[in-house]
Parts: sequence; structure tokens; C-alpha cells
Amino acid sequence: MIPPIANKFVAGESPSLALDHATRNHTYGVGTILNLLGEHYDNPKEAAADTEAYCLLIDDIASLEIDACVSVKPSQIGLDISAEVFETNLHQIVEQAAERDVFVWIDMEDYTTTDVTLDAYEELALKYDGGVGVCLQANLKRTREDLDRLADLPGKIRLVKGAYDEPKSVSYKDKTRVDEEYRALLEAAFKHRDGGVAVGSHDPEMIEYARQLHEEYGTPYEIQMLMGVRKDAQRNLAAEDVTVYQYAPYGSRWLLYFYRRLRERKENLFFAARAVVQ
Ligand code: FAD
Repeated sequence: MIPPIANKFVAGESPSLALDHATRNHTYGVGTILNLLGEHYDNPKEAAADTEAYCLLIDDIASLEIDACVSVKPSQIGLDISAEVFETNLHQIVEQAAERDVFVWIDMEDYTTTDVTLDAYEELALKYDGGVGVCLQANLKRTREDLDRLADLPGKIRLVKGAYDEPKSVSYKDKTRVDEEYRALLEAAFKHRDGGVAVGSHDPEMIEYARQLHEEYGTPYEIQMLMGVRKDAQRNLAAEDVTVYQYAPYGSRWLLYFYRRLRERKENLFFAARAVVQ
């Protein structure tokens, strides 16, 4: 069982708890992006098991008629084994999702995986005429070109600042520079994309900027935030008729994810310490 201090960030160990969480979000007008925790498998059986778990989850989402979708990490479904295993498993998930009308996001991992992830996205976006989305990271120097490359494809793009500690040769290390890049990418995405832009950020300034860009260009957009982060803002934005999705991880491999959330922000550490003392 997940201890109460981790429950803030993780929706539960089982798919049924994750779906209960998504159903609760739905009552507040907040959609849910469910992510089964797992990454960097070097065993094809583990990658196949998580692929199967996503297919079953997609069936459950479709039967509940709630606003929910899934987000998959490439290394969870075989990218560390081979590009072929990753692509086969991803195709299986997206095919199942297309039949059930459930959206599939592809998370972006470190810079060594960008090409193969975008190639897979491009193929699927064309094959299923949308129905899939991919994440692009503002800290990578290549991302403006990647956004151009994807501009005319159906499907959605999630813009994030980037979570991986990348080499200097390929990335911006300075936070102000990454923020500048994020703004420039938001502007380009709102200007040139019809398919929709997902703003994967908790940053109030970026969210406000996205709202301004939406007013200027009319491009459909959604705000995406993590479970456990700015919950009130998520609900308030939804109440103002902004499309909001909460990225909610679940599954038995929650410990590493929980530590990452604690490490990235001192307020989270205070929260964990308080929960232990109380
Ligand atoms: P930051 O730049 O960290 O902070 C800016 C401001 O936002 C802060 O000053 C504060 O006002 C507010 N804020 C930030 N965090 C908090 C908090 N915990 N509580 C209260 N206020 C806060 N990265 C990837 O590399 N690949 C992915 O596939 C990926 N997917 C993601 C999906 C979603 C839905 C989200 C939200 C993030 C994802 N990320 C991904 C992570 C992303 O790259 C950033 O590392 C992360 O979102 C932190 O950047 P930020 O824009 O939220 O805000």
C-alpha cells in the first residue's frame, strides 16, 4: 500500500484506484492523464506486461466515460531494448486506444531518445489522423526545429521545460534561458499549430502567457499539471472553462517517482516532514 505521504503525488497502486482518482477529477471538470509508473526496462517481458496493462486500462477508461487518457514512457515499453520493440508496443497501445477513442500521450525522455520518439509519433499521428500527442522540451536546443517539423501533423504537442539533466552541448542550462525558450516555443506553437497545444507547466507566468496567446490566435489549448502540484489552481482554471488535465501516475513502482517530486522542490520536503511528524 502507498503510504499517505506519497498519496499526494501518486493515484494508487492499482488501476482501479487510479480510475477512482480520475473519476474524482472528472467531477471538478479536470481531465486525467494516467501514467503507469515504470521506465528503463531491459527485459522484453516487462515492456510487454506494461503494454498489456495500458491496453486494459484503455478499455476501462472507455467503459467509464470519463475525460481520461494515458501517457507512456518510451523506455517503459521497450526503447532500451530496441527501437523495434518500442515501436511494436506503442503501435499496439495506440491501435487499442484508437478503437476505444482514448487519447495517447508519449512522454519524452532524455535527448538520446528524441529522434526515435518523434519518428514513432510522426508515423502514428499520420496513421490515426491525430489521437496521439508527444512532449517537446524547451531546454533542448533542437526543439524549435522539432516544433517546425511537427507543425503540419495532426495530434497534439505538450510543451514542457524539460526534466532531464542534459549535456551542455545540446541543452540550455540556465533557467532564465529555458524560460525564454519556453515562451518562444509557446508563441510559435500557438501561431502555427491547428491541432492544439498542451502547456505542461505549473508556472503561473507561462499559463497566463498561454491564455493571452489563445486570445490572440484562437488556437485550442489545454493546461497540464502534475497530481499533487497546484491542485487548487487546476480546479480554479477548470471552473473558468480552461481545459485542464492532471497527469496522475499510479502503480507499484511509485517510490522513485515520489523521491523525485520531493527532491525538486523544498516545499515538498516540508510537506513530507510534516506528514511524518503529525
Ligand atoms: P518551474 O520552472 O519548475 O517553476 C516555475 C514556477 O511554477 C514556480 O516559480 C512556481 O510558481 C510554479 N511551481 C512549480 N512547481 C510548483 C510546485 N510544486 N508547487 C507550487 N508551484 C509550483 N518533462 C520531460 O522532460 N518529459 C516529459 O514527458 C514531461 N512531461 C510532463 C507532463 C506534465 C503534465 C508536466 C506538468 C510536466 C512534465 N514534465 C516533463 C516536467 C517538466 O519538464 C518540468 O520539469 C516541470 O514541469 C517543472 O517545470 P514547470 O514549468 O512546472 O515550473
